[in-house]
Amino acid sequence: MISLEIFENAVQNQTIIATLILLLSCGIIFYNNQEKNALANASVCLMLVGIVDYISSYFGSWIDNLSLTFSVNILMAISLIIKFAIFLLCVIAATNLATNRVFEKKYIACLSALGAIFILFYTIAYPDGIVINILHNLLPAIGFAYLATAFLIRCFRAHKMGAVCGCLVSIFITYVVITNISESASYPLKRWYMAAIAYLGLSLTLLLTLLDGKNDEIDEIQRKMNKNNQRFAEIVQASPFPIVIFKLSDDSFLLANDNFKRLFAIQDKDIKLYHFRDFFVDADNRRLLNAHLEKEKIIKDFEIQVRSVADETPFWLSTSANIIDYEYDIAIYAAFQDITDRKKREDLWQNQATRDPLTSLYNRRYFEEEIGHRLFAPRPEPFGIFMIDADHFKNVNDTYGHKTGDKVLMALAATTEKALRENDIVARYGGEEFVVYLDKTNAEDAMLVANRLRESIANTEVIADSGERIHFTVSIGVVTSEYSQDLSELVKMSDDALYKAKANGRNQCVLYAPELAKTSAISQQEKEQDNVHPSVAAENTVEVSLLDNQAKESQ
Ligand code: GH3
Ligand code: MG
Ligand code: MG
Repeated sequence: MISLEIFENAVQNQTIIATLILLLSCGIIFYNNQEKNALANASVCLMLVGIVDYISSYFGSWIDNLSLTFSVNILMAISLIIKFAIFLLCVIAATNLATNRVFEKKYIACLSALGAIFILFYTIAYPDGIVINILHNLLPAIGFAYLATAFLIRCFRAHKMGAVCGCLVSIFITYVVITNISESASYPLKRWYMAAIAYLGLSLTLLLTLLDGKNDEIDEIQRKMNKNNQRFAEIVQASPFPIVIFKLSDDSFLLANDNFKRLFAIQDKDIKLYHFRDFFVDADNRRLLNAHLEKEKIIKDFEIQVRSVADETPFWLSTSANIIDYEYDIAIYAAFQDITDRKKREDLWQNQATRDPLTSLYNRRYFEEEIGHRLFAPRPEPFGIFMIDADHFKNVNDTYGHKTGDKVLMALAATTEKALRENDIVARYGGEEFVVYLDKTNAEDAMLVANRLRESIANTEVIADSGERIHFTVSIGVVTSEYSQDLSELVKMSDDALYKAKANGRNQCVLYAPELAKTSAISQQEKEQDNVHPSVAAENTVEVSLLDNQAKESQ
């Protein structure tokens, strides 16, 4: 019989009231058209309250019918666990109802563990009849009080002072329930227990009210933010330009419109796989963009070279970007314009302005400008200048025709360019003359390079239009920056040295020395008088025809 006594009181009025609350909550929530997720959870919890309560009411009689013999302590522990489960389900349902938030599993686990320890301690380890009795009655009562509180807050929260009314009504309900329990309980509850429960009800109510107010504010802000984000996304989508938003921290995409996806040939589903940096041809270009953005916060018409997923061919975009807050992230908003055609035109103009059309080498103007910039640097490194002149080039034109002459000039340019380092510069200075800037080079090394270059030019072969194989040579005047830091002076000096090389018989390199300047001046006069090529007039030496490698006496 003992089992029946323990479990017979299981079906309590609170199950019926809880079901009532469930139905009323449904009405209110649907009426207010509020979040239905939390309601669904609360409903499940309340249904479980009913099921547990119902099953437990039959538990005692089942045990008695089956004549199972359990110790009182174990039966008490089972009954308390059932009461605790009801309490817990009420708490979860109440929290879902009041806060519109799903009660987190970790809190349920903690609460369950604490309850289990408490119950086992008072029923098995320290079977204090008073505490067990109190728990037996109070656990569902507290759960119910909490549920009633939540429900009332939910009912009244739409109205001014609604939360306060909810508090007062819930305290009243809590008090009535406790008083009822205390009267029907086999062990009379003391008044201070009732006061404590009433206060607990009050504190829970206040806590929920505060929490609820905050949640409402957060919900409102969230709703506004979602609406704004949605509107923003629509504007971005409707833009005729490719637009993207990506995180500053890791370049991952947060939003990209169809024009952007089309430009980079990205599928909708793949957008999360890419980072903005993946599309850059040059990593430095990307770093520069970020550096500018971090410094200026906003950039306009920054040119970037990128390529799409589908095609390796790079293209140019003009980018306008700024740093923004987007969905709790620091992000970059960037809009693009395809400027590939403009870039191509600019490159063409640039080339036309700086390159020689025949040899594709830089022209004299570019050379002078570029070296001018380099010399402007504080304490420039020592450098060398070559003046290269094709020997007897007139003969090439005369013998093989102008077209072959052009071919020779192109071969000469290509061989020279190939022989130099990246930082050196070669330019066509005029006609069949070329000038070279040799970076970070002293006189000894400059002569070494000049001679190596001269030899490789001499070994270069060109097929004339007539089919003949022709060879050609150059003379090179070399000077280094030890004599001057002025480019026109240095060019003049290298010209003097070149003049000496021609005079000495061509196909050779001569390093400038100050005394060469005088020789050159005298010879210049002679040249003007005789109107003959200076080398021929001044030296009267054996002149090597470098085109057919035959020596012939010059008269
Ligand atoms: P030297 O060894 O003394 O330098 O004799 P040279 O014949 O090379 O010198 P000269 O200055 O007498 O002749 C240069 C010739 O180069 C004259 C000119 O017709 C030719 N020339 C200049 N520019 C071009 C060009 O673009 N194409 C061709 N095919 N010939 C050119
Ligand atoms: Mg010349
Ligand atoms: Mg020449």
